[in-house]
Amino acid sequence: MERKRLFEQALGLERSWYVEKTEFDDEERQLDLYLNFQAGGTFPCGSCGRDCKAYDTAWKQWRHLNFFEYYTLVHAPSPRVDCPSCGIRQARLPWTRRRSRFTLLFEALVVSMATEMSVRAVGRMVGEYDTRLWRIVNHYMGEESATDAEDDEDRRFEDGSARVPEATTDHPESVAHAKSP
Ligand SMILES: [Zn+2]
Repeated sequence: MERKRLFEQALGLERSWYVEKTEFDDEERQLDLYLNFQAGGTFPCGSCGRDCKAYDTAWKQWRHLNFFEYYTLVHAPSPRVDCPSCGIRQARLPWTRRRSRFTLLFEALVVSMATEMSVRAVGRMVGEYDTRLWRIVNHYMGEESATDAEDDEDRRFEDGSARVPEATTDHPESVAHAKSP
């Protein structure tokens, strides 16, 4: 119980969100955090912020900061809302920004590391393709990215598995799961 509360605070969960279960996989050195929300919960529309009931949900996952050496993933039923002003939109989620595949804390780590070293070096340390990290860095550093431009970028990002560079030899999983000697 206390452990769940700890993760809830670390993720900045608010309103009806809570940690439903946590799973440690010692062999894979992975921690999975499963979130859920209380029935009847309302969510801010991703476009205008208006409070709405969930229209439907789809399970998604986000990479979070490693918990010690455990590769950590957050799983949650991401709701869409039927907003009276905007129509059907993704709800705003407290632990991530729209259409990112990382949590806000993970992004904060990447951005702060990127001020000290190259994005490629950060990618090697956290076990992610640097192209993915550049999206984060550009989002926070490149203030010129207007909302519309960002939407385009996000759309490519969502179905953009083809954008992973083939030339990269470091498989992110192998780096992320590298055992300590
Ligand atoms: Zn709206």
